[in-house]
Amino acid sequence: MTRIGAEYFDKMTQDNTSCDYPAAIRSVCPNCGNWASFTLAHNHLNPAMSIRTAGSYCPSCNFLVKFVMLYEDRAVQNRSRVPIQVDLYPEMDSEFKVGALPDSVPAPLRKSLDDAIRAYNARIYGATTTSGRRTLEGIFKYMLPEEQRDTSLYKLIQAAGDNYDFKAPIDRLSNAVRKGGNLGAHFDPDKEADQVMARQTLDLLVYLIEYLYVLPKRIESLENAIEMPEVAIGEG
Ligand SMILES: [Zn+2]
Repeated sequence: MTRIGAEYFDKMTQDNTSCDYPAAIRSVCPNCGNWASFTLAHNHLNPAMSIRTAGSYCPSCNFLVKFVMLYEDRAVQNRSRVPIQVDLYPEMDSEFKVGALPDSVPAPLRKSLDDAIRAYNARIYGATTTSGRRTLEGIFKYMLPEEQRDTSLYKLIQAAGDNYDFKAPIDRLSNAVRKGGNLGAHFDPDKEADQVMARQTLDLLVYLIEYLYVLPKRIESLENAIEMPEVAIGEG
């Protein structure tokens, strides 16, 4: 289970039981990882046990998320109203793993990412986001010539956009898949598509589809979680 703090409750609701409950709970979906507001349905209080159970379907993936709310003993008689503990089931995957990175990734960048992952796996989430920010700083620094690296992260991000052609990998990927398709479409006994080439084509197509359709949703999901207005991205 994942413990949910009261700051993630949306609008406490009363029924006739003295055990109030949030109309919705904001959390990350344990199935798809998207941030969502889970409207509580299938709501049921067991007054003798001072426990309320509820469920909600994820608006992104339709996965059923379950909530268990614990009230103090004799909550109904004592009219204590607020749950003392709210847990979400099933538990989010608590261990983050990343596959082997290529040697071309600079060692300090690799170490910074390792720090972020180790902090996450140790459940030190503040340190995860801090190391994550440092990793981001590393990513952008290594994209720039050394003499341009000594500035704020905000300026590094701007400068990287001026120095690096972010569109180039997409162009190369698209043209590689296009040319591979030409091999399959035209008869040429010397150059035939084989399993390795077919596999690489599929891998690259999946990258491209994820980049265009999955990545924007995940970015939006994090923005919603941070509740960061665009103008407040700031100078840091
Ligand atoms: Zn989901």
